[in-house]
Amino acid sequence: MNYKKSLGQHFLVDKNIAKKIIKYAQISENDIVWEIGPGSGILTEQILKNCNKLIAFEIDKQWFDFLKDKLSNPRLRLINQDILDVDFTKYTKNEKVKVVANLPYQITSPIIFKLIESRELFSSITIMIQDEVADRIIAKPGCKDYSRLSIKTQFYFEVKKLFKIPSHLFKPKPKVTSAVIQLIPKDEITKIKNEELLWKIIDYTFQHRRKMLRSSLRNYLDKNDYQILMKNTSKSQIDFSRRPEELSIQEFINLTDLISHRKI
Ligand code: SAM
Repeated sequence: MNYKKSLGQHFLVDKNIAKKIIKYAQISENDIVWEIGPGSGILTEQILKNCNKLIAFEIDKQWFDFLKDKLSNPRLRLINQDILDVDFTKYTKNEKVKVVANLPYQITSPIIFKLIESRELFSSITIMIQDEVADRIIAKPGCKDYSRLSIKTQFYFEVKKLFKIPSHLFKPKPKVTSAVIQLIPKDEITKIKNEELLWKIIDYTFQHRRKMLRSSLRNYLDKNDYQILMKNTSKSQIDFSRRPEELSIQEFINLTDLISHRKI
């Protein structure tokens, strides 16, 4: 069997860590679990011991076939597909799903953004990712790690960094340290008048993260909307000479609410 670097194949070799992840995920006998990238199956085996049903999505036919032979079990359904192409609604009914995974590092952000889009399907997401990406996810305004990923994840989820895992516990050994994080969908999210506009403004201003908000927004908005914002500086309580990385989610919401009439 070979390991494909291009698919982020650094397999966990320590069973105790696999057990620790499952313990944090609090999987019980009634749970439906999805695993992304089961690989050689170290997590898969531990999940199966605890859950009701497991669906595991593996892109690599070689490891998909390997697992089919190794773990034949009526409670396990293996799908040979790119997770980014999976239509999640095909695999869910009414019950909420717990996601557990050691994610392929090079597509961590696209996978997390996809999980965020389908957040109503999940009761928890427990994932191993690069430690530095974990720090970006939990970062607060004003930190160098604060980004679109932090804002989007923290807006929809309670986010916890659980523990780190050193690189020698993987084969082949990666260059980076890993960490396990947990995302729990919030019961209630802050009401926003125009959610699509909020994310557009955040995307645009973070693409120019070193620019003052005033200057990014002048470029992004039409003159009328820009003037509404400038006239209402005190109402939005935003100092537009700051950079986007200094703004809390609530401040972005205050700003967007002032021009919520705007068509995208
Ligand atoms: N779960 C195993 C473990 O913990 O040792 C393997 C984790 S390894 C970091 C990532 C796994 O994701 C590999 O098995 C890889 O083939 C799979 N993978 C990579 N890209 C994928 C994709 N787009 N969709 C589904 N699986 C993918």
